[in-house]
Amino acid sequence: MEKFKAMLIRFLRGRYGVDPLYYALVGLYAALLVLNLIIRSEMVSLLTWFVIAEIVFRAFSRNIAKRQMENAKFLKLWNKAQGAYRLTVRRLKESKTHRFRRCPHCGIVLRLPNHKGTHTAKCPGCSEEFEIRIML
Ligand SMILES: [Zn+2]
Repeated sequence: MEKFKAMLIRFLRGRYGVDPLYYALVGLYAALLVLNLIIRSEMVSLLTWFVIAEIVFRAFSRNIAKRQMENAKFLKLWNKAQGAYRLTVRRLKESKTHRFRRCPHCGIVLRLPNHKGTHTAKCPGCSEEFEIRIML
């Protein structure tokens, strides 16, 4: 048993392991399995094998720098999607009391009180002023 344990430790030393992309791929794998229970497609089945192969490959990879770069790219996309989702939810929740407008100068989204008419708004990000029209 001790010999096997030492062998396993030697095998795992220097391997990449798990990261947020690993968990996302496991989630994708589970979603594909459930989807395939419903639609029973050969293509989805093949795709699940590719996903599981990628999960195993990444976890046991010795090219740690490359795996970290992949994870960083994934996190950048993930955070962008998460931000867009949160903004949409907030827009829907506060649609009666606030309006969300993008600054035409710097692009950040401003949360403005919902007052009917034409107003001048000053962006807190770039200090530029722009006109907004709110029609109810
Ligand atoms: Zn601005």
